[in-house]
Amino acid sequence: MSCKTKREADLEYLLEGRVFDGQSLHENWIVRIDSITGKIVGSGERGSIEEKRGQKIIEQRDTTILPGLIDTHVHFFGSIGSGINEWATTPDALAVLRSVSDLHRLLRAGFTSVRELGTKSGVFLAKAAEEGHFESPRIISCSRALAQTGGDDDPPSYPLEIGQALASYSYFCDGPWECRRAVRKVVRDGGKVVKLYASGGFAQGGKVRLQFTTEEIRAIVDEAHRSGIKVAAHAYGEEALLNAINAGVDSIEHGLGLTPKTARIIKDRGIFYVPTLVTYRKLKPSTNTAREKMIARHFREDMELAKRYSLKVTMGSDIVGDENRPHGRNYEEIAEEAQFLGNREALVAATSRAAECLDLPMVGRIREGFEADVIIVRGNPLKDVEALAPEKVLHVFKSGKLTSNS
Ligand SMILES: [Zn+2]
Repeated sequence: MSCKTKREADLEYLLEGRVFDGQSLHENWIVRIDSITGKIVGSGERGSIEEKRGQKIIEQRDTTILPGLIDTHVHFFGSIGSGINEWATTPDALAVLRSVSDLHRLLRAGFTSVRELGTKSGVFLAKAAEEGHFESPRIISCSRALAQTGGDDDPPSYPLEIGQALASYSYFCDGPWECRRAVRKVVRDGGKVVKLYASGGFAQGGKVRLQFTTEEIRAIVDEAHRSGIKVAAHAYGEEALLNAINAGVDSIEHGLGLTPKTARIIKDRGIFYVPTLVTYRKLKPSTNTAREKMIARHFREDMELAKRYSLKVTMGSDIVGDENRPHGRNYEEIAEEAQFLGNREALVAATSRAAECLDLPMVGRIREGFEADVIIVRGNPLKDVEALAPEKVLHVFKSGKLTSNS
């Protein structure tokens, strides 16, 4: 028996129209949202779901209702300039304030969850957002990334201690026991995932170098899994990919240099593959031909292999919050992935599969009992991904609450 007051009934929303539920599309569906519990009360064909007086009805022509978008690879550097020194030397308070604004922008653009893979104040942003101090997507933070001495985020132009003290997003560790201790620091910080560098990247220019050994990665994976959290591995090149996947990581970030051999193991082990394509579109071309070849290959062979082996490709943009990669239009990664996988698969990668990657079992689908992270966009993103552009996002519900400006 319902004993809800009128005010409570007002806090129920009834959305009507075309629905992408995280897997498939349905015409003429209804979705009921309870703002008090923050859950989806029901979804299904018109007539199959109870309608009550007092519910707020949202129905607009040619719109699509879908789960809130999820970006599984972001950073919040809050810097204007880009590059390792700019990221490292932006004062923390300034970076945080800019990041709050970035998070608000992301929420209004339809992103209701993000996985933050290395940011000085990532866990504090996550905590303040969870406490409700500002409107934000849910943040799954790794606190600091784990990197070897001289690794990707260890600015080489400074003396060691100064470089590592300035470093914007890593704990440096060498050898299995230091690596285990670094995981324990992440857990102590409140990190919900571990990020490690199996290779370098392009941040320091030059040749991409192999980083942590398999022994070190195994120690990190074992320690993280003992604490019940997953491991995301930055990996470029076949050897780094093999080191990471053989050590048991849960997701491959970037994954440049995929080969049939590595694709087969990634497939067999159910590892997520996060190609971060949009980042490589945004990087300025360099004179480093090896780097340019690796990037060009990523858009051809790597993605063809990902498709051929049906890898669990997941939406992750590697947008960092600086002038080259500003937050807000992160949906462009979905458009990039759609070119290879098709629109439906790219939408799965940004909703239900992304939630699985983040270990959020009750997020990423429009289904009874799930978290009411729901957005309404103008148009049909299964026909045209541009329907996910921020200017097309009409309403955003995060845990059943309609966000301001939406
Ligand atoms: Zn990244």
